[in-house]
Amino acid sequence: MKALTLTADFAPKPDYQLNDRERTTHRIQAGSQVWKNPHINIGQTADPTPKDDEVIIKVGAVGICGSDMHMYEPGKDGYILYPGLTRFPNILGHEFAGTVVEVGKHVRDLKVGDMVAAEEIQWCGECISCRRGFVNHCDNLEELGFTTPGAMAQYIPVRARYCWSIQEIADRVGSESEAMVMGAMVEPTGVSYHAMFNRIHTWQPGAYVVVFGAGPIGLAAIALASAAGASQVIVFDTSPSRREFALKLGATAVHDPVGADLNGIILDATYGRGVDFVVEAAGVPNHTLAPLTKGLAVNATICHIGRSERPTPLELEYYQVKGVQLAGSLGHSGHGTFMNVIRMMASGKLDMRPMVSARMALDEAPSAFKRLESRQDAKIILLPNA
Ligand SMILES: [Zn+2]
Ligand SMILES: [Zn+2]
Repeated sequence: MKALTLTADFAPKPDYQLNDRERTTHRIQAGSQVWKNPHINIGQTADPTPKDDEVIIKVGAVGICGSDMHMYEPGKDGYILYPGLTRFPNILGHEFAGTVVEVGKHVRDLKVGDMVAAEEIQWCGECISCRRGFVNHCDNLEELGFTTPGAMAQYIPVRARYCWSIQEIADRVGSESEAMVMGAMVEPTGVSYHAMFNRIHTWQPGAYVVVFGAGPIGLAAIALASAAGASQVIVFDTSPSRREFALKLGATAVHDPVGADLNGIILDATYGRGVDFVVEAAGVPNHTLAPLTKGLAVNATICHIGRSERPTPLELEYYQVKGVQLAGSLGHSGHGTFMNVIRMMASGKLDMRPMVSARMALDEAPSAFKRLESRQDAKIILLPNA
């Protein structure tokens, strides 16, 4: 089959201490400290066969994620920008939907022909974190498209337990190919859903919401806030094209944050009350959360999704006086998140297609990655079997 593989040199930085597991398996906790000179290429690789608990999925659609860009784009020192769990060479792609074409012999709940989306978080179900219900923080985590083969390929093996039917979406839109494109966006939308409704869900319909960053995760947060009854969704992003996408997905106001008085803008828009719920999806908390003080309402909640290795100074005295809480959020598994996102898409309450700026064949992936370097697009979808 055809697949897009990322290769990189294993070159731990001098001050990075590899543990034994990293040394023997090259499954690296902090990718940006180890992988140098990344390259992508499209080539032929062996067709996958299912293990007993796996299905083989014929990929209908797969999105290119900001994380894919951070593995593909080196920083000035030649190392990948992505700071998380990685192992190379590997097939990229973790936002996808497809059709089951083969099932392992222990698979009970899926059959050939089922249309599914799959979780990227490959939780083990057995470690203490999983058994406590925190599957996104699995102690034995593998990540599809990061440490295990991804979906920028014609076929992918996935354990059945990570798959969710998207039949409901296909029934709603009346088109399998559209259901695939929508299904490919369940994963990134689930990341925002998990942050907004599973971590610290203090906000209610009518709330004022601020979203920092209008990349795909921020755009999903905007659409979810809007669908869930936020009375205002105020969005900050430096890119004019992304501010346009934000307006299409339900933002009530958009602003360029550069040089802006964040607290002043928020207080003006909220009649002096401040914002009730904040989503950080820009990955620059030192520019978004650090200056945010008077713009936070009493009992405001901040959810941090965007990744940043930088320390961020926060005005904790203000948090204490106003009863502000801050939650980190990672992943999209557990709590029926995929199921609920699929239902929202199927009901017509959530349609992420306005953020898709191009649909391209897998062969065109290298030019799609190149095009995304400018951050003008929100989401490009690849169609590996088109
Ligand atoms: Zn992603
Ligand atoms: Zn686990």
